[in-house]
Formats: sequence, structure tokens, C-alpha cells
Amino acid sequence: MSSTRHYCPECDQRLRDNSWWCNPCQRRHFEENFDNWSTGDKDIDDFLKHTQINAQECDQYLEWIPFSAFINVNKSEISEVGTLFSANWIRGPSDTWDPVESEYVAKRSLLKVALISLGSSTLLFLKEVNFFLIFIVRFFLCNVFLIN
Ligand SMILES: [Zn+2]
Repeated sequence: MSSTRHYCPECDQRLRDNSWWCNPCQRRHFEENFDNWSTGDKDIDDFLKHTQINAQECDQYLEWIPFSAFINVNKSEISEVGTLFSANWIRGPSDTWDPVESEYVAKRSLLKVALISLGSSTLLFLKEVNFFLIFIVRFFLCNVFLIN
């Protein structure tokens, strides 16, 4: 398998094979944006920030997405974990490298996603988010979103 080495367009650091993800620059971008969003719960905010500043790739972090960013929301199932909905994410994830803009951009608009409502327990929310981050998002690349 061939590999391609890239250099960060911002800091000129040599990047990992086949990746445009520059840890220090992406971390700085996330930190500069910390004051622009909040879930309203400090523990959840801190958890999301932790995933962002420790991400090693564009699909390894969580972000706060307001409910208004979804359309076609339909309840599909009620389980012991919570209520499951299907929906379309209007913008989609910023996971495509744009060589002209030199940044990750959203190119999958109206992406079909699953939303899970867990109720108002912050502890349960963080437990489930952590599970999905480790076992679903990272290894199966599903588009599952937990809503509180
Ligand atoms: Zn960089």
C-alpha cells in the first residue's frame, strides 16, 4: 500500500502518512472556538473539549450540535437505553480535507444519522457518549448522536 506524507499548511510540520490532521493546529482551532458553544452542562462541555484537544484524526472527536441542525427527525424506537430517532444532519461532519481552503470542511450535507435521547442524567449521558466514542464512532464509523 502506498502512502503519502503531507506537511501542515499552517505550521509546516510533517504529518502522519495519508493524513492532513495536524494535532497542534487542530487543537488550537478547537481551543479558539471553546467560547463559542456550550451544552449548558459544564461536565459535558469538559468531556467534549477533552475529545477535541486529544483527537488524532478528523473522526475522533465530539462536537456540540444544536437540535436545530437536524431535519426530518422521526422517532423510530424506544429502548431501555433511551429513545432512538432517525434524522438528517443539515451541514454534516467536517471530515473532508479541502486542498483549496487548507482545512477540513463538511461535504456530506443531509447525512442520515441516528439520534438517541437519554433524558436528563448527565452521568448516564457521559457514560453512553464514552461508550459510543470508543466502540461505535472509532471502530465502526457510524453516525450516531446522543441528545440530552
Ligand atoms: Zn500545523
